[in-house]
Amino acid sequence: MLVFTTHSEVRSFLKDKKKSIGLVPTMGALHKGHVSLVEKAAQENEWIIVSIFVNPTQFNNPEDLLKYPKSLEEDKFLLAPFKKKLILYVPQSKDLYPEKLVSKTYNFGGLEKHMEGAFREEHFNGVATVVESLFRKLHPNKAYFGEKDFQQLQIIRALNSQLDLQIEIIGCPIIREDDGLAMSSRNSLLSPAQRKSVPIIFKTLQEIIAHQKEWNISKMETYFRRSIEKESQLKVEYFFVAKTSNLIPVKQIEKEKFHRIFVAVFAGKTRLIDTVELGIL
Ligand code: AMP
Repeated sequence: MLVFTTHSEVRSFLKDKKKSIGLVPTMGALHKGHVSLVEKAAQENEWIIVSIFVNPTQFNNPEDLLKYPKSLEEDKFLLAPFKKKLILYVPQSKDLYPEKLVSKTYNFGGLEKHMEGAFREEHFNGVATVVESLFRKLHPNKAYFGEKDFQQLQIIRALNSQLDLQIEIIGCPIIREDDGLAMSSRNSLLSPAQRKSVPIIFKTLQEIIAHQKEWNISKMETYFRRSIEKESQLKVEYFFVAKTSNLIPVKQIEKEKFHRIFVAVFAGKTRLIDTVELGIL
């Protein structure tokens, strides 16, 4: 597998190849969710670049950044099946932030205001800064992002059209453990007891979907909070139902419009997010 630490090495390797390039940006500690993005990129492109960079500017909590899991050797092992067409790009900060390690300020017309944007200050400015840098430096044809971070996916789409970067943004479905827990690098930080209790998050979301026609949003939220907080290890940070088109939380579901539920739950100090689509009424 080719491993590069600077974007110039990646560019000069790909320079004369005139091939389609798919980019999968990650923060490492890879799992099957990441691999599903790489698989899709491998089907659709002649070369794949997987970047591994734990981006400091998107962490509002220094402890969260310090604790973020790292496992480069295991990551390479998971990527080995794709090695004939895969470039692993593992930069230091200065390759993506040549001047200061600070985020730029963006306006995504409200997409960035709620949920993760409200509870993690500066998070999306940090994400957009690093993704813009990756896009401008690596020139992929397509880039792959998971619906696990649905708000991030919509923001990247907006970034791409605002800056006219002409990259095709591909959204990929959430990959879950057998018990429904959305795969996440942070799951490795859970204690055995916490790991046992967290499947209740997706289970409760499914129960809410099953009652979607009878329950209003306030009832959904009460049900979610009660169900989650019955587990002593778990604390709900937020529960929102938002319109898929603009990601603005609503108090009532609008007929014939797409909506999603967005939740963030703390298991001890580990913060987990999940999202599901509601059916159209
Ligand atoms: P991260 O390394 O957490 O920044 O994630 C890198 C990419 O993988 C992002 O586009 C995520 O949305 C995506 N991703 C993370 N977990 C999953 C999952 N369980 N299913 C699908 N995509 C995921």
